[in-house]
Amino acid sequence: MTAKVRELLHSRIRDVADYPKPGVMFKDITPLLADPEAFAALTGVLAGMCEKFGATKIVGLEARGFILGAPAAVQAGVGFIPVRKAGKLPGATLAQVYDLEYGSAEIEVHAEDLAPDDRVLVIDDVLATGGTAEASLQLIRRAGAQVAGMGVLLELGFLGGRVRLEPTLKDAPLEAL
Ligand code: AMP
Repeated sequence: MTAKVRELLHSRIRDVADYPKPGVMFKDITPLLADPEAFAALTGVLAGMCEKFGATKIVGLEARGFILGAPAAVQAGVGFIPVRKAGKLPGATLAQVYDLEYGSAEIEVHAEDLAPDDRVLVIDDVLATGGTAEASLQLIRRAGAQVAGMGVLLELGFLGGRVRLEPTLKDAPLEAL
């Protein structure tokens, strides 16, 4: 990715203080989505990452991982698989429960969407604590598929997500744009 594209993407992300609760600096990507040049540039970078990592499928994490992952999958010529919050997928699913600050959450994937010969690139907008990504990577591994890598637009380094993901990613790369 060129410095010019990086600067364009960066300029289209809006910081919103104290959303959705006090103390959180929310990274709002809607200005980027609304700018066709920036959105197309990001799609191209993510599609290139898919090819670079030799991925055969893209998994997008609900909900903004869908918006970023789906056009990248089309451009890269690979299938797109949604990892959804529990109760949204109609077929037979694999589920993974993970801890939140208070309580727990559950995500699901259609079991038939992942096969042992699949190499999966996981895409989301923001890597924060890494809880969602960790549970998704565990789901992919439990389905028997291989993890080709993970790509995010933004990494909030001070929350330690990258370190948390190391055991689950194993040697697969994590790229934050
Ligand atoms: P985590 O499981 O803590 O890594 O949280 C990741 C999910 O929460 C991602 O799907 C993000 O979309 C969202 N998220 C967490 N923190 C932020 C933030 N500061 N700004 C925007 N989205 C966030």
